[in-house]
Amino acid sequence: MRYAAVVHAKRDLRFECVAEEQLTPGSVRVRFGCGGICGSDLHYFLDGAVGNFAIAEPLVVGHEMAGEVAELGAGVTGLAVGDRVAVNPSRHCGDCVRCREGRTNLCANVYFMGSASKRPHMQGCFAETVVVRAEQCVKVPADFPLARAALSEPVSVCVHAADRAGDLQGRSVLVIGAGPIGLFQTAVAKWRGAAKVVTTDLEPLALERAEAMGATRVHNAGEGPTPDAGTYDVVFECSGSTRAIPAAFEAARRGAVMVQVGMLPGEPFPVPFNIIVSKELDVRGSFRFADVYRQAVGLIVAGTIDVTPAITATVPLADAVRAFELAADRKRSAKVILTA
Ligand SMILES: [Zn+2]
Ligand SMILES: [Zn+2]
Repeated sequence: MRYAAVVHAKRDLRFECVAEEQLTPGSVRVRFGCGGICGSDLHYFLDGAVGNFAIAEPLVVGHEMAGEVAELGAGVTGLAVGDRVAVNPSRHCGDCVRCREGRTNLCANVYFMGSASKRPHMQGCFAETVVVRAEQCVKVPADFPLARAALSEPVSVCVHAADRAGDLQGRSVLVIGAGPIGLFQTAVAKWRGAAKVVTTDLEPLALERAEAMGATRVHNAGEGPTPDAGTYDVVFECSGSTRAIPAAFEAARRGAVMVQVGMLPGEPFPVPFNIIVSKELDVRGSFRFADVYRQAVGLIVAGTIDVTPAITATVPLADAVRAFELAADRKRSAKVILTA
């Protein structure tokens, strides 16, 4: 038996016993160390759905995790019991057309932890133990804080979004939304050489953290129009709020690239499509991440991307309900970390 954080329906999260997973050849059992509560976990908890992915059966949430290898399946090499690892929540087939193109995040047969995008749902990692393929584990130094290693997943999301945007060297970048993804997007844009990164949000705490993540300038979107609107080479929309979309289109310069990173609500909403025409905007979706997880772990371990300013609280996994309530309060929280 193992305890896990399970969403049964909207506002119904339980820390309860779930079935033990079978250790199969090529897989390892990882003991939970630290996990990051993500916007999508919160949406399952608060709304019972993320975008169009609705909860239809109990879902162990969580996809940002680092821990310790507890048991090795047959044939596993390169890992030992006791190794500390960051766990890539994404397992692609390697065989479908999109995988063969290298766009593994669009794999037709992907298994992504803690997601209701398929039935049966793909169970997540906010559990005392979880069984994953050995290839999903990336070793981190024995003394490296697992709270930071666990954030390799959201950093991967932002590295992928930067890849979608193209060359950021010398560019002026707008990041809309300073939740954890917007915060890491700010840091990743700086690392990729952006000359200016302006980050917007409605919450003072989020803006303060954005400054700590290296934003050139922060702006409270509730207090007026985006500074220098119409001049940004690249806009990363990380809020996932339909209210932010008009500002994103206005902020982009002619010929700009707009990357939609935030998952928007499931209902349709109006989009100023003529601006895409008249400004010749390249509007690109960015979904999870392709083959950049190992790179993201490396960036965090090397300190190139410092994720610590985003962490606002650490709460034991057993108090998952309290942790989720806290994480949902943007006045008090950015990234909330669950610990063993
Ligand atoms: Zn995440
Ligand atoms: Zn595939």
